[in-house]
Amino acid sequence: MGEELKVSKIQRGTVIDHIRAGMAPAVLKILGIEAGIPDVVVMAMNVHSHKLGRKDVVKIENVILDEGTLQKIAIIAPQATINLIEDYRVVHKHKVSLPKALRGVVRCPNRNCITNAPEERVLPLLVLEREDPVELRCHYCEELVRGDRVELL
Ligand SMILES: [Zn+2]
Repeated sequence: MGEELKVSKIQRGTVIDHIRAGMAPAVLKILGIEAGIPDVVVMAMNVHSHKLGRKDVVKIENVILDEGTLQKIAIIAPQATINLIEDYRVVHKHKVSLPKALRGVVRCPNRNCITNAPEERVLPLLVLEREDPVELRCHYCEELVRGDRVELL
């Protein structure tokens, strides 16, 4: 494990740490959609963690993530920490966080919801009900959505 992390140290970019084990592919999917294909992505899965037991880590060279991308990561990985790296060192570290309401970010899973009727043109609005694990409730039909099952828009 130590060897693997040493090899994959990045010079400059972002390390997303403390992702719940098994969720790294979902994080990569968000990064692929939001940031295009980054220069270098290193994914470590099932790394030992004191805090989580097992965790995933994603490292992206030369990419600083914007607020919208960080919010999407927070939905599926609420315990994640974001480390900004310069010259192989962590220069800034913060936990991801979610706003109280997400508009136009997550699809409501209820097919009969007004937000899923194209002719109505109503953007989904989901209200944060629980932070870890993340649970969101649709403002319109009150359907409950689990963070690790969301369909991102
Ligand atoms: Zn709904």
